[in-house]
Amino acid sequence: MIVEVRPPRQFKREDLKPGENLCTYCTGTCCRYFALPIETPTTRKDFDHMRWYMLHGRVSFFVDQGTWFLMVHNDCRELMPDNRCGIYQTRPQICRTYTTDNCEYDDKTCYDQFFETPEQIEEYADLVLNWGKKKKKSVEKSGVVSLPVV
Ligand code: SF4
Ligand code: SF4
Repeated sequence: MIVEVRPPRQFKREDLKPGENLCTYCTGTCCRYFALPIETPTTRKDFDHMRWYMLHGRVSFFVDQGTWFLMVHNDCRELMPDNRCGIYQTRPQICRTYTTDNCEYDDKTCYDQFFETPEQIEEYADLVLNWGKKKKKSVEKSGVVSLPVV
């Protein structure tokens, strides 16, 4: 007999009944990482620092509407096995102000850019830093800006 195994269907936020909380149906997505805005990297040294962060593991970078963010993928130590907060009454302010209204429960959006490995950052740095040099040379030579072939 062949048994077809299908992934469980995600509960839809529009199916919430009055008085229900969406977090009840979630695996604590927002408690499993934190992200901080950083200055836009512009130099080899900046990118090298980013590489170093990533070499420690569970660190990624993303760009959202022009702002760069460092993201650390690590579960909050107070997240309980049933995905509820273990210190709900005394949870930090940042957790209190975060609401389910626009949370990532069913967020399918993509970042403008997302870097998951140090190699990706290195490759990107090579591209943008050398692109600046090539563009300058190209303008100096011909007076015309030419796009690089990647
Ligand atoms: S706020 Fe959203 S992402 Fe966070 S636990 Fe609740 S439903 Fe999940
Ligand atoms: S303190 Fe509670 S609500 Fe805040 S991140 Fe940790 S588990 Fe989530």
